[in-house]
Amino acid sequence: MAEFTNNPIVTSYETKRDTVLSKKVIYEEKINSIVTYKIYHDGTINKIIPSLIAKQFENKYRYIYVDSKGYKHNLGDFTIHRTQVYRGEPGEMINLIDLEEVPKSYKKGTHQYHFIMDSPRSFVNEQTLASFFGAMLEVNYLDIGCNGFSHEDGSSRPSRSHINGINGDFKYLRTDKSIECGSGTSLNLIKEPQALDFDRQNKWNDALYKFGWKGMLGWTVTIDNETKYLNNITHKTSNHYHHLHVQEYEPEINEIQQ
Ligand SMILES: [Zn+2]
Repeated sequence: MAEFTNNPIVTSYETKRDTVLSKKVIYEEKINSIVTYKIYHDGTINKIIPSLIAKQFENKYRYIYVDSKGYKHNLGDFTIHRTQVYRGEPGEMINLIDLEEVPKSYKKGTHQYHFIMDSPRSFVNEQTLASFFGAMLEVNYLDIGCNGFSHEDGSSRPSRSHINGINGDFKYLRTDKSIECGSGTSLNLIKEPQALDFDRQNKWNDALYKFGWKGMLGWTVTIDNETKYLNNITHKTSNHYHHLHVQEYEPEINEIQQ
């Protein structure tokens, strides 16, 4: 055996193969260089900026969810829309991403999501997209209804507070897990409080909180004269009986320049 491994022909072949392999790794790194958001199950998010960005990825960001076992879920590469910050200083820019470009469903093992967009305000920003993915893959629900973030220019009419893809609205979750688009389809907590899936809604509220939205506006549910408060909602806010509003976005994001 010793004779065989000491054979100079074998050694030079091995060295050659290693060189070819390392060249291949460098080449693949070069062509795969893209700004990547890594979303960790514990609520932290890393934005990794490679020193070199491949030509075909100049206008794209990649999103990867890392689950508690360390498995990496590749959620896709999405187009970034460089936009003037709405109500910002001239020249102040932001990257918005259209949720209509994001696959509405994902499933790998026990990790899954399905959401619908029930609003023309389909733009989130590069950070809130990471948080949205993190929250969805924390609860693994298939009935997430988004009632809108921002428009393509970062504005949010008719709402005033949904600018720059930061604040958003979600439908309340039903016990029958049904989900529909269109006016009047959102669960109305005044008319149908018993249809609210209180436990699942609380987990969803907590997941949204964990991934960055520290403030929420919503409603309470009153059944048989007993009023219950949802997690992170301290009071009723007018007009929020048919949707949950998330705000005060303070995510735990680290930027890593390579
Ligand atoms: Zn809102």
